[in-house]
Amino acid sequence: MLQIEHLRKCFDGFAAVRDASLQVAPGEMVAVIGPNGAGKTTLFNLITGQLTPDSGRLFFKGENIAGLPAHRICRKGISRSFQVVNIFARMTVFENVQAARLSRLGKTRQLFAAACSMAVPQTMEILESVGLADKRDRIGGSLSHGDQKVLEMAIALGVDPDLLILDEPTAGMSPEETAVVLELMKRLNREMGLTILFCEHDMELVFSISQRIMVMQQGRSILEDTPPRVRCDARVQAAYLGGGDVC
Ligand code: ADP
Ligand code: MG
Repeated sequence: MLQIEHLRKCFDGFAAVRDASLQVAPGEMVAVIGPNGAGKTTLFNLITGQLTPDSGRLFFKGENIAGLPAHRICRKGISRSFQVVNIFARMTVFENVQAARLSRLGKTRQLFAAACSMAVPQTMEILESVGLADKRDRIGGSLSHGDQKVLEMAIALGVDPDLLILDEPTAGMSPEETAVVLELMKRLNREMGLTILFCEHDMELVFSISQRIMVMQQGRSILEDTPPRVRCDARVQAAYLGGGDVC
């Protein structure tokens, strides 16, 4: 579904992504791990078109998408959430997801019609699937941090993606909120067949739900393998697992 080969992106001569390669097959749940500044968000920005790569190859469903604008990549089936919550804070929960549905249907202008009645069943279906149906009339900005992050995932689902990219989906969450997102990610992947690529600092979560893990360090992908093998890698042990993990 996604094939990344030797991707590179520099900012004023500094290579934030130096040489990143990764493959994601349909239906997979793949994690990217690495310390702060490793280049994970920059990599996601390159995949989703927020940034244009300097070099390297980027294919989605066999098609070269390197350098396409974000809205075209989104229309091809890649949708994402951001490390920092990104919702319409003054719109209701329902309107936030409805806006995404309408953009998918090419009917964004309908947003300006009062009490828009379009895409209501699909919007409710998404809200029910993420557990936000009972909060449909709440103003987005008034939700708890955890619910705002879940709402952002619901917005991403609104465009009916094949590949969902989540940048630190549990950042700043309580253990209870993290558990909710963990279950949601599992359900989206296993029951709804969505392919998910995410980065995350919670190693317990990463190792419990990923089918494969890619490790990034200083802009390079240094390892891509199954969780048990990644867990046994000496570099990963030293950096994340305190060196004492038993393989
Ligand atoms: P991560 O998500 O793994 O923490 P980032 O991709 O955010 O890493 O950042 C990788 C490196 O690139 C960091 O050193 C960061 O400061 C730098 N960087 C990211 N975006 C920019 C930018 N727009 N301009 C300059 N430097 C940037
Ligand atoms: Mg980041």
